[in-house]
Amino acid sequence: MAIRPIVRLGHPALRSPAGAVRPEAISGAEIQTLIDDLFETMADAGGVGLAAVQVGVPLQVFVYAAVDPDRRSLAEAPRKTLINPMVEPVAGELEHDWEGCLSIPDLRGLVPRHPAVRVWGLDRDGRSVAYRAEGYEARIVQHEFDHLNGVVFLDRMRDLRSLSFTGEWEEFMTESDDDAAVG
Ligand SMILES: [Zn+2]
Repeated sequence: MAIRPIVRLGHPALRSPAGAVRPEAISGAEIQTLIDDLFETMADAGGVGLAAVQVGVPLQVFVYAAVDPDRRSLAEAPRKTLINPMVEPVAGELEHDWEGCLSIPDLRGLVPRHPAVRVWGLDRDGRSVAYRAEGYEARIVQHEFDHLNGVVFLDRMRDLRSLSFTGEWEEFMTESDDDAAVG
């Protein structure tokens, strides 16, 4: 396993649609090592999600910590991998909450997201998965899925006036126990 450099806004990998992974390639060393490295890089950077495009690999792969809707127990949150995913919103009013991005360091902003989504894809063993994610997990999934389509959280913000540097965000914009979804 290795920590890979995270590309930052301006790198074309963040603005290009990612390609599908051939299912027969999932068990191979290239994809398995990529997934291990994504988890290690995510943990090292203090994020809750990371897409392959963020380490410059143009494939439809992302990993995340499935933090429960009430944001408890990050340490115990299951680690999930999604390959070639599809994400579809479940009907419901958009909710605004704080996000940041490991590819856009040191900024936080309020982003509207669907409160729940249905997810389909393959896991790291190449098995089909289908489930519903809600709340904080749904937010992380939508953020990472956007990365596979060349979209970043700034594109989703309705009002850029909430955009803050992390230090100022902690001092002026949020309660001390608040956390942003950074992926
Ligand atoms: Zn991101």
